[in-house]
Amino acid sequence: MEIRKGIAVSPGVAISGAIVLDSEQFRIPRRSIEPPEIPAELARFQAAVERALAEVRGLRERVATDIGRKLGAIFDLQDNLLTDPEVSQQIRELIERERYAPEYAVSTVLRGYARKLLGLPNRYMSERSGDVYDVEKRLLRHLIGAKRETLGTLTEPAIIVAHDLSPSQTASLDRTKILAFATDIGGRTSHTAIVARAMGIPAVVGLKTITADVAGGDSVIVDGNRGLVIINPDAVAIARFREADQRFRRMEKDLRDLRDLPAVTLDGRDVKLWGNIEFPHDVEGCLARGASGIGLYRTEFLYLDRGQDPTEEDHFQAYGEAIDLLKGRPLTIRTCDLGADKFTHLSGEYDERNPFLGCRSIRFSLQHIGLFKTQLRAILRASALGPTRAMFPLITNLKELRQAKMLLADVREDLEEEGVPFDPDMKVGIMIEVPSAAIMARYFARECDFFSVGTNDLVQYTLAVDRSNESVASMYTPGHPAVLRLIKTVAEAAKEAGVELAVCGEMAGDPIYVPVLLGLGVQVFSVSPATLLEIKKVIRSYSMEQAREICKKAFQFDSDREVDAYLGEIGRRMLPEMFA
Ligand code: PEP
Ligand code: MG
Repeated sequence: MEIRKGIAVSPGVAISGAIVLDSEQFRIPRRSIEPPEIPAELARFQAAVERALAEVRGLRERVATDIGRKLGAIFDLQDNLLTDPEVSQQIRELIERERYAPEYAVSTVLRGYARKLLGLPNRYMSERSGDVYDVEKRLLRHLIGAKRETLGTLTEPAIIVAHDLSPSQTASLDRTKILAFATDIGGRTSHTAIVARAMGIPAVVGLKTITADVAGGDSVIVDGNRGLVIINPDAVAIARFREADQRFRRMEKDLRDLRDLPAVTLDGRDVKLWGNIEFPHDVEGCLARGASGIGLYRTEFLYLDRGQDPTEEDHFQAYGEAIDLLKGRPLTIRTCDLGADKFTHLSGEYDERNPFLGCRSIRFSLQHIGLFKTQLRAILRASALGPTRAMFPLITNLKELRQAKMLLADVREDLEEEGVPFDPDMKVGIMIEVPSAAIMARYFARECDFFSVGTNDLVQYTLAVDRSNESVASMYTPGHPAVLRLIKTVAEAAKEAGVELAVCGEMAGDPIYVPVLLGLGVQVFSVSPATLLEIKKVIRSYSMEQAREICKKAFQFDSDREVDAYLGEIGRRMLPEMFA
């Protein structure tokens, strides 16, 4: 039995036999052609392009219909590659001038692009190399006629182990047969991870050597909650897995009973339990798990994988779709958090050594005023359709907030002049996700309607620990006394000014921190759909008095280890089944 640790990207646990997909599924002969063969070979290449294009467009349609329009759009990049005249010209030149066989020409050109992308320091961009490889494989399949390992014809359930899965491979997985997957590479922001979550397939990525460690037919357990893969588990591990699985199912069933109950503490304090979404259709998953609103809509996903910016109509349509689904519940639209690890085609302008400290988020928006105003117009227009709140990310100083609000006021004026309806009382809030904003919270509180603490970034910026770097993962903890003190500062400022206090970072979805956040006075917990019911259960298990008591005690420790040990112990005592 062997255990491998990777990055948990999609929750759930599964056990099954493994199917291992090699990264090299084709052997590409370096074959040259004779001059008289050139026209026929060019035609063969063109036919392969057309078939691949039809395949990509068909997949896009299918995914758009089955899962959602925005996920369908992840195939745009592949479409663009196949229709790009420059790419095509490079391949044709190799066939014509160098007399390369089309297979070899295709691989040479596309792998060149993939390598360039892989070499980029920005993770989001480097992960797009997966799309280029996918296009290469499609073309090769049509040229060589070789069959790719087809997952569509599986008759038995299986777990997929692969070097990487492209977004299209993931989206076309049969949910009833593929129980989970594990990959050598990949990251939190890859589309593969996004699609896996949307489809509810447990997944662990970034395992480095999992395709070498697992052989086809090996029995494996994929634990998408803890980021573990257990290879050839022994009888004890299997028994533990079965127990955990049953417990998980029982708990899921019990939790489902909570769906329509209020998120209220034992002594009757109402808490708003809202969901975090990346795509409008994610609202459905949140409502199915009892969310009473959306506290964070990460709108930057509208920008990713496009060759151009979304139009005002694209924004408006997406917001309208979410508002429709919410049926009167509030939608908090966060303006784009582009930059750092989430990039658009515009990001080529920046070659940053420290992208997380660079032109990210509100800084990016304020440097691209046209793009920002387009989004603000759409948000304001959407506010006429249902309760809408605007939220600015990564605010570091008052000037940024004032500039953003001034632009919002400009846009309001324009809409007024044009007679376009919007909600004049739309609430405007900020994310508190850098220490400077937390320290200065009382000043910010005078100029906005709500705070939402983004602990994912607040932890990384306070502790100087990259949130996506495995090698420092053990230092990344919201339980660090410095982080708790910053949140306390924010909570005091919010209370003093009567500003609503939300937490939308992952800390709000971690059961051990719930009593501390309640004790600090957090009013809104905005969490990922998968954790909504769990967090409702936790909220319903404490009285405010208990929460304040636990919070007070947690503040007496001077190290994250002690804080986490104490809160873990409380959690296990209060909710043993959840922490087992
Ligand atoms: C956060 O930083 O906590 C947050 C919610 O924003 P994101 O995870 O999108 O950076
Ligand atoms: Mg953030």
